[in-house]
Amino acid sequence: MSLPQVVPDPSLPDAVTVYEVGPRDGLQNESAIVPLQVKADFVQQLVAAGLPVVETTSFVHPRWVPQLADAAELVASLAASGLPPGPAYPVLVPNERGLDRALEAGVRHVAIFASATETFARRNLNRGLDEQYAMFEPVVRRARDAGLEVRAYLSMCFGDPDEGPVGLAQVVGAGRRLLDLGAGQLSLGDTIGVGTPGHVTALLDAFGAAGVGVSRVALHLHDTYGQALANVLAGLRSGVTTFDASAGGLGGCPYARSATGNLATEDLVWMLDGLGVRTGIDLRRLVGTSTWMAGHLGRPSTARTVQALIRG
Ligand code: MG
Repeated sequence: MSLPQVVPDPSLPDAVTVYEVGPRDGLQNESAIVPLQVKADFVQQLVAAGLPVVETTSFVHPRWVPQLADAAELVASLAASGLPPGPAYPVLVPNERGLDRALEAGVRHVAIFASATETFARRNLNRGLDEQYAMFEPVVRRARDAGLEVRAYLSMCFGDPDEGPVGLAQVVGAGRRLLDLGAGQLSLGDTIGVGTPGHVTALLDAFGAAGVGVSRVALHLHDTYGQALANVLAGLRSGVTTFDASAGGLGGCPYARSATGNLATEDLVWMLDGLGVRTGIDLRRLVGTSTWMAGHLGRPSTARTVQALIRG
């Protein structure tokens, strides 16, 4: 199995954090229910491959995402198996009830999921754009009071399937409100994958002009139109150091029409390895993990790097 030749680009950050979303964002889009033990093994293998952050599950109502109905059991199972200290294990909490369940389970790091557009807020959260902040305010406040770290996802930052283009000022306004609530990190989502590199640069510049530096921002890019890695490179050039990715390219967004293709962690790591940007991730082990998970899902990984490396 070959690995990329390293040709560093000194203008880029020396190291980045890869925020793994496969067990949550990936599996929630899989219709075949994955057994609890397989999910637990998946998280353990990702950590063993060097992923520093693994979003493990979502405390959403089981009716909406049956795949993740075992969230509390999974967190308990991972804790009982002595999950290594060091990596972070955030979970998604959609509302106060989700936070209650996460706190009961002993979670230390949560993520909320907001929308930059009115249409998607109504469709995904059943609330208007402004109403979503009222829902999240007590979630963030109570999580912070309990000493938890809070990440805020912001979806539809580069376009909305119903509304079309989304203006920079609208995205910056929504992102600032989430940070003002007390979120520590803002993950900007290209939920339908329509963003292009100049758009990434412009959005990050607009956040910077509004006083939100790249150290507080992560990028959650989708490869629907094949733009994800080009957009990562644009983010790196602007100084972003946290990138979301899904092992094996699992998942997309079940509620967004034409939303497919989480950026595959292996494709991201191949590029970062080649650029000499450190991640701490063992690409070979990660490919082994995704190949193992593909076997459980009964179909090959969609990640190009997984396909290439298992052939090679
Ligand atoms: Mg995603």
